[in-house]
Amino acid sequence: MLISLAPDAPESTRQRLLAAAIERGLKARVLADGQGGEVVGIGGTLGPDVARMPGVIRVQAVHKPYMLASLEARSPSTVMVGDVAIGNGPPVVMAGPCSIESRENLIEIAHAAKAAGARILRGGAFKPRTSPYSFQGLGEEGLTYLAAAREATGMPVVTEVMEVDQVDLVASYADMLQIGTRNMSNFSLLKRVGAAGRPVLLKRGFSATVDEWLMSAEYLMAHGTADVVLCERGIRTFDSTFRFNLDLNVIPGIKELTHLPIIVDPCHGTGRRSLVKPMSLAGIAAGADGLFLEVHPEPDNALSDGYQTITPAELAKIVRLSRAMLDALKECEDEQTAIPDVVHMPEVAAEEIFASIA
Ligand code: PEP
Ligand code: MN
Repeated sequence: MLISLAPDAPESTRQRLLAAAIERGLKARVLADGQGGEVVGIGGTLGPDVARMPGVIRVQAVHKPYMLASLEARSPSTVMVGDVAIGNGPPVVMAGPCSIESRENLIEIAHAAKAAGARILRGGAFKPRTSPYSFQGLGEEGLTYLAAAREATGMPVVTEVMEVDQVDLVASYADMLQIGTRNMSNFSLLKRVGAAGRPVLLKRGFSATVDEWLMSAEYLMAHGTADVVLCERGIRTFDSTFRFNLDLNVIPGIKELTHLPIIVDPCHGTGRRSLVKPMSLAGIAAGADGLFLEVHPEPDNALSDGYQTITPAELAKIVRLSRAMLDALKECEDEQTAIPDVVHMPEVAAEEIFASIA
């Protein structure tokens, strides 16, 4: 049940709602509605008198199962990562190496990514590798390098957490916690990460439906965080030509279902360096709130995912082209909206015609 409270709703209403939920053994969470008021999400139903409480402006008994993540709950969200805003503004680029390799290498990449236009540094310290014989990441040592790179550049950092018992450790270094595709349905991890007090980047499971993905976001939100950013990173289809297939339908599509921002990862989504630029631009054109990109000065020598990693120069080009493309799209859209103004003038004449008919 979703209960919307007016901006000036008395605190007593909120308290009564929460107390009523506890009394019935129901989970309850309070979210800002993006318009100055609040939404109380209750994992069940309260009595009809709820609608008559002072300050209650709307009661939705029927809603999506992902009630907190749903667009029915509130207007599109902006998620803050450090001082960087994701959603409702210009696309945000998160970039960095697939795996953190060394202190020097990471700081070099961080400076280069920042100069190219990235706002958030990515880098894996705990790596989910398909083979147990592949490089597994530097672990906590990598996290200390991530903190050093933040110190050196001022960029907030995002990194993956794979285990429930690593959450506190990773959260003590990271500004944003990443849930990888392989853990999208690890509900124990989602519960723990949702309660960790950090914004979360939730990658789509590579075989997950949109509903399953949004239910995973709901797990995070039901356990504490309001700050979830979705990341489309490619899905498996019948076609094995590409490592994964970037599903760009979901960018505009999911915005009809959820208030959460969504970014695109064209590196994992294609598995091919040569496709990263066109698919980045396609993602931005589709309305993505940002990009998640693997960058390395020598991609061929990267310790993981080098074949889908771009150079800082390529990153700079993507950022430049994205901005130019968005400016051009905006200009065309403004021209479009200008047309009715021009067409508007004859309306005066039309009124006169109607008057003369009357
Ligand atoms: C990554 O971002 O390096 C990563 C492992 O991503 P995914 O979980 O999408 O494979
Ligand atoms: Mn990777």
